[in-house]
This record gives sequence, C-alpha cells and structure tokens, in this order.
Amino acid sequence: MPLAATRMGRILPSQTIAITQKARALKAEGRDIISLSAGEPDFDTPDFIKQAAIEAIQRGETKYTDVAGTPALRQAVAARLNADFDLDYRAEEICISIGGKQVIYNAMVATLNEGDEVIIPAPAWVSYPDIVQLADGKPVIVPTTSETGFRLTAEQLRAAITPRTRWLMLNSPCNPTGSAYSREELKALTDVLLEHPQIWVLTDDIYAKLTYDGRQAYTIVQVEPRLRERTLTMNGVSKAYAMTGWRIGFAAAPVQLIKELIKLQGQSTSNACSIAQAAALAAVSAPQDFIQEMVSVYQKRRDLVVAALSRVPGLICPKPEGAFYVFVSVQNLLGKRTASGHVLKNDEDFVTALLDETGVAAVHGTAFLMPGYFRVSYATSTELLEEACRRIARFCEGLA
Ligand code: GLU
Repeated sequence: MPLAATRMGRILPSQTIAITQKARALKAEGRDIISLSAGEPDFDTPDFIKQAAIEAIQRGETKYTDVAGTPALRQAVAARLNADFDLDYRAEEICISIGGKQVIYNAMVATLNEGDEVIIPAPAWVSYPDIVQLADGKPVIVPTTSETGFRLTAEQLRAAITPRTRWLMLNSPCNPTGSAYSREELKALTDVLLEHPQIWVLTDDIYAKLTYDGRQAYTIVQVEPRLRERTLTMNGVSKAYAMTGWRIGFAAAPVQLIKELIKLQGQSTSNACSIAQAAALAAVSAPQDFIQEMVSVYQKRRDLVVAALSRVPGLICPKPEGAFYVFVSVQNLLGKRTASGHVLKNDEDFVTALLDETGVAAVHGTAFLMPGYFRVSYATSTELLEEACRRIARFCEGLA
C-alpha cells in the first residue's frame, strides 16, 4: 500500500520553494549563487515593526488569540482596506491566517465540492492549481498572451465559464508577470461576473502596494461594489512590509464565508502567531510612507533588469507595472546548445543550465503554467542584479 494518499498524487512540490531551497543549499556548499528565484523582499522588516513584536512578547501576548485573529488586528486590517481601496469591511468580516497561502487554502477547502471549477488565468502563481486540486476542485487554466499584457479578457472569461464554475482567481499585480489590471480592464471582467451570480471571486492583492510609474492597483469590490457579496479579498503583510517569515495574511469577505474559514482554521492551525499578529498590527496601522521608499527602489531595479535583459539577443523582456518580477520569453533560444553541450529543449532546461553553468537561480515559466518563459525576482541588491544580468547575458550569448 503506498504511503501517500491519492490526493498527494494530484500536486507537485512548490517549484518556487524547491528552486529557492536548491539555490540556498548550493550556496551553503560554497558555490557562487545569485538567487533570483524567491519571491521575497531583500529588505529587512522595518525596525518599528520588529519592536512591536518584542513589546508584545514582553507584555505576555504569547497565548492563543481568537482563531480569526485579535480584534485589534481585524479592525486595523478593515481600516487599512478602507484607506487603501475605499472598501467597507467590518472587523467580523476579516480573518487573519498564516500567510496569503492559508487564506487561499482555507477558501478552497471550505467551498469546493468534487469537480467544482476554478478559473485561473495563466501565467499564475505556482500554488493556485495545486491548492484547488487538493480541495477536490478542477483548475480551469485560461492562458493569456503577451499581446494583452498577460491579462484575462472579458471574452476569455466568458468562454471559460460553465455551470460548474465556482470561483475566478485573480492576481493583480500578477506573480509572475508583474501585470496590473487597470480599472477599466477589471470592470470588463466584473461585468461578465455580474451575469453569473453563482461565481465567487478570489482577488489576490498581495502585490497591490507595489506598483510603478505612478500607477495604482485596483481591486474587484472597489471597481464593482455589487460583487462584494461574493468576493474574497486576499492580502497580507509579506511583500509590501517585507514580512514574509512572519506569515500573516488576511481574508476580507462576507460573514457567511468568514465563518466557514474560521471553522476550518479552528480545526487545523488555530490562530496565526500572536506575536506576528502584533507586528502586523503595527505595520498596517502606521503611516505608510516607508513603503513608498521601497517601491522607488524596486522601480529602479525593475528598470535596470528590463534594460539589461532586453539587450540580450533572443530574450524578450516586457516592462511590468507592479510586483517585483520580470517574466522573460526564452522561446527564441529553445533548441540551442549551451557552452557545456546541453541542448535547451524547454524553459526548465534553460533555468537548470543557467543555474548549473552560471550560478543564477530563476524559475521556469512552466511552473507558472506558461512554458517558454522564466521568472526573475528583482527583490535583491542592485550589485547582485547587475552581476546576475551579466551572467544571463553571457550564458545566452554563448548558446549555439
Ligand atoms: N510567493 C513567492 C514566490 O512566488 C514565495 C514562494 C511561494 O510561496 O511560492 O516566489
């Protein structure tokens, strides 16, 4: 009898995590590795946030909290969503979880029955389809194209909907492409959703504060308040506040869904770490100017990487509007041979050879459901990015 349950056969290890861990292990062995694989800010968590956590420990806030989070944090998250997106949630419509990942996991497990369909525009974050499959659902992958900036169109959405559709998952700015939907683009999608009252929307807004060139990110309920009753707005502190390791994500949704999320969380992890919640409270309650400082650094790095990679013959590197990724086409280089004789049959061969031969770790597009590309995270220092781009250029120029 196999050890693993049948459901484990439906999922793969997270490729973003696997490649990042491989890069970390190679580095520990003494190899000269530049890791551009992790979707993780290189900035340290701001001091005032760390201090809030230390004070929470000193006050003895080391016990269970309500499963859905402390009343203070739920209230502060509601206020943050109001200030940032003009959303109007009450504290009881907020659930605090262990990262955005748990919010998505809870939502899918709590709502999907076998065969229920979840529309996922591709490219998409590696974990969406696997979480849906763990929850017995069926991911319906809708490939977008570079012509629409990797954004789902109303026609594509309409064509993907069936009587079994339960959710649409949207992510703007998007991991891995950095594409951000304009208000009008989102409105075109919400108009389609208004025609289908059985469909819920999960909007993953984790990168919403990281947009460039003065652009703003929008979220579903802000654009179409009539969808409030069937939207789960997901966000968290990981990316915007450089707090990945603290593991705090939030769900904002109608109470009927929040109750289900709390019920499930109460039978799995219970509350998110009390100390991390105190830190998140400080983060979301503070004046938010410090985020703008990080955003301007990210924008400069984006410009650096896009300029450097666009100069490399064979690579196509669009300029993203947000997040901290560029999603680069390697289609022109497939079939070529590396300096050490490896033939690059696909994007996975490309990133494997890139790591083996240059020490630069990146994630292949297939992991994000879009073959022929690779994702570079530019949430790392300018010096390392410059060196990584030089190595990528040399590697590509050496292909024959
Ligand atoms: N979301 C980040 C990434 O895409 C972190 C790793 C993960 O959980 O996938 O790299």
